[in-house]
Amino acid sequence: MLSEAIYLDFNKLEFETYLTEFGFLYIEIDEAVIKFKKWSSKKSVSSSLINFPSKNYILPEPLGVTLIISAWNYPYQLALAPAIASLAAGNTVIIKPSEVAIHSSNALKKIISENFDANHLAVIEGGVEETTKLIHSKFDKIFFTGSTQVGKIVYKAAAENLIPVTLELGGKSPAILTEDCHLKRSIQRLVWGKFLNAGQTCVAPDYVLVHQSLKKDFLKGIEEKIKLRKYSIENQNFTKIVSVKHTQRLVNLLENQEVIFGGNYHIENRDFEPTLVLNPTWESPIMQEEIFGTVLPILFYENFNDAIQQIKTKEKPLAAYLFTENSKYKDQFLNEFSFGGGCVNEVIMHLVNGNFGFGGVGSSGIGAYHGYEGFKTFSHFKSILEKPTFFEIPLRYSAYSANKLIWIKRFVNWSKYF
Ligand code: NAD
Repeated sequence: MLSEAIYLDFNKLEFETYLTEFGFLYIEIDEAVIKFKKWSSKKSVSSSLINFPSKNYILPEPLGVTLIISAWNYPYQLALAPAIASLAAGNTVIIKPSEVAIHSSNALKKIISENFDANHLAVIEGGVEETTKLIHSKFDKIFFTGSTQVGKIVYKAAAENLIPVTLELGGKSPAILTEDCHLKRSIQRLVWGKFLNAGQTCVAPDYVLVHQSLKKDFLKGIEEKIKLRKYSIENQNFTKIVSVKHTQRLVNLLENQEVIFGGNYHIENRDFEPTLVLNPTWESPIMQEEIFGTVLPILFYENFNDAIQQIKTKEKPLAAYLFTENSKYKDQFLNEFSFGGGCVNEVIMHLVNGNFGFGGVGSSGIGAYHGYEGFKTFSHFKSILEKPTFFEIPLRYSAYSANKLIWIKRFVNWSKYF
């Protein structure tokens, strides 16, 4: 039922659905089932001299009733991965899936209502009106995945009730190819990551900056790779754009652009061929808006430092990718440029490591999840100091004296050795 629904929404192949939805979720479920007892156990920490003798520990507790609002592009993964984390932390969960992938939203509602107690895990479907009501209600936590624009609305509404919020947002994630990169491998991985789910991936490479010296070989190589994958609007095995409106938005982005490959689309059928756009200006809509589709702008640079300085002037992206064999470039990219997370010589796959938190920075998000980071996101950690009653150092009690102050200062000074 879930696969069929996603096929109706996206025409998505079972292979891709397994890879990006179910496979990912099975890993998250297994990890939570195996580790949640360890995650939720009391953790002892060392005491301080000033509090001698005492036991000190951190006690995780659930936040309470949590709301998960999700985006449409991976309708199950984005709704259920945070739900797994929230349930593992002991909360109850209400999921509000996106109304845009309507078949998947319906299927999620059906399968959850048939298998879970609604007081524990429930789905409320709907669009702006229903979500607006929910975000003005008194939840103990709101976890939102979606656009930066709507993220601000959610953040503002949650602030009225001082509800803690995690925002998993988007942005324009760059990929950079340096002159010494492994060109064949770089193109192979770039094409896979860009056109996976027809480009409707929050961490897809949004645009690519290529060193000038690679121009001819890069353009030849990327066109060959796209042709090899048989991506075209005649290929009915290619994932569709989610709606007519979203397809039209991509068409609009091509206005006044130099399309050097692809560019064919069928708006009513929601088909849009992988399309390469050459040298758009930074001011054009295609370089301002998150593309979230099958269009890849290609820009060339001469100097790596200039390329880094250029992308640093933009909002901090959710992801960034560098293809290089040069450690100097790698160091500069990692140390000077702020982004949510990313890869060197790879794209997207940093998501598939439960030891990494996944989230943005700046306008691409607040907070993180996946694996233990997800558990932390949905927990409160109580700090507890437990003291025995058989012993007392009476220094802190009045009557205060000069002698007591000397001893307090000594304790403060000695604390650093403990
Ligand atoms: P969206 O912001 O339009 O919608 C997200 C959710 O908010 C939906 O459930 C929708 O019903 C609700 N919503 C929409 N408008 C609203 C409003 N005015 N008031 C209250 N609720 C509203 O985003 P989208 O189009 O579903 O998803 C695309 C965006 O999500 C892209 O920017 C993408 O990068 C981002 N995204 C981020 C991640 C991540 O993990 N960081 C994952 C997937 C998608």
